[in-house]
Amino acid sequence: MQHRIVVLGAGYAGAVAAGRLARRLRREDVAITLVNAEPDFVERVRMHQLATGQELRPRPFAEMFDGTGVELRLARVTAVDVDRKTVTVVPAVGPGKAEAPEQELEYDTLVYALGSAWNDQGVPGAAEHADQIASRSGALRLRERLAGLAAGESVVVVGGGLTGLEAVTEIAEARPDLDVALAARGALGDWLSPKGRRHLRKVVDGLGVTVHEHTAVTAVAPGHVTTAEGTAVPAAVTLWTTGFAVHPISRATALEVTGAGRIVVDRTMRSVSHPDLYAIGDAAMATGPAGHPLRMSCASGLPMAWQAADAIAARLTGGKLPNTPLRYFNQCVSLGRGEGLIQYVTADDRAVRAALTGRTAALYKELICKGAAWAVAHPTLGLPARRRRVAPQPARTDTPLPTTTPA
Ligand SMILES: Cc1cc2nc3c(=O)[nH]c(=O)nc-3n(C[C@H](O)[C@H](O)[C@H](O)COP(=O)(O)OP(=O)(O)OC[C@H]3O[C@@H](n4cnc5c(N)ncnc54)[C@H](O)[C@@H]3O)c2cc1C
Repeated sequence: MQHRIVVLGAGYAGAVAAGRLARRLRREDVAITLVNAEPDFVERVRMHQLATGQELRPRPFAEMFDGTGVELRLARVTAVDVDRKTVTVVPAVGPGKAEAPEQELEYDTLVYALGSAWNDQGVPGAAEHADQIASRSGALRLRERLAGLAAGESVVVVGGGLTGLEAVTEIAEARPDLDVALAARGALGDWLSPKGRRHLRKVVDGLGVTVHEHTAVTAVAPGHVTTAEGTAVPAAVTLWTTGFAVHPISRATALEVTGAGRIVVDRTMRSVSHPDLYAIGDAAMATGPAGHPLRMSCASGLPMAWQAADAIAARLTGGKLPNTPLRYFNQCVSLGRGEGLIQYVTADDRAVRAALTGRTAALYKELICKGAAWAVAHPTLGLPARRRRVAPQPARTDTPLPTTTPA
């Protein structure tokens, strides 16, 4: 009997994990199913580029996984039952067609990699009036709105983190005719090294971005945002980039999750409460060096995927568990297309003195983005095949599932 591995989400983490599992395990022993809502890979790290009118290369999953042994299911996941070991999905249908009825998938091992969405932090008006670039649909909507702005109109990017910095510089570079501002809770780039901060300031000033430092935005309305001091800052478009939130599906399960709903995992990315489930990428809360949680990022998601896939393969085949410590090396920030900043960091992600700046940094960042997409697009290449026989698993004891989904 084949061991059924279901991977939920084909973002950076899920796609890479599925491919690596296919490379590690023998086809006759496992059935690997990859479930994703959309038919092609979304390069989330380039959503600010999409929003400013750049075209991204289409990356259809059907091509990527052709011949790998991974079965692709285009469907929206609506629930996970970790006790019955089932996933409820609504199959994707073409535009204009009636929604298909729900289906259930059974699993022996589940890899949960549904990623994250934007986080409006409950700020009044943000959900209704702000734009976001955490998803492709959000980036495409912002693209339309930016294209509709006349010269001199205002854009405020809320959030001075990595996503906010990349977005504000990209917009200011692409649309020098707009009045572009950044609202940051702290000082501009206050976690960076002195060299990194100086370079960031130089680029932002050169692009004519107005920076509102130590500024919390407390409300969003059509045409302006309001700060904690009660100041109204004009904003024909408000872009909200104050962090990511995970999908509510995990919180509705019996899994151990954090207050924010991220699934708590051990160093092999296995759920601390349900050993048949692994969580990776933004959806998971894993501990990194010095006991600090890994941050939601592609930089964490890819090593988490490798670790999870290798751990699953090791446990199924009786091999050696992976013991690679997950750590950071740098933070790679694009500052428009011609400028960048590579901030070198300690293993636990704190800035050190060294930073790479300018055109070389922009090229480095571009290579990193290309490398991440390559890893997804060639899920089974570049890995030595270690297809090992799956050891006999305990007999399944689950009661048979009903053939129709209960109401
Ligand atoms: C503009 C921007 C720039 C960024 N830049 C960087 C950067 O420079 N470096 C970096 O390290 N990180 C960066 N990030 C963060 C990075 O993109 C995320 O951390 C990363 O995408 C997380 O990977 P993931 O696989 O966990 O989730 P995702 O990439 O979000 O993938 C989740 C997948 O699950 C699918 N999915 C979601 N819900 C469902 C459902 N209910 N049913 C079926 N499928 C579903 C989605 O369609 C998607 O394919 C950036 C993010 C943004 C938005």
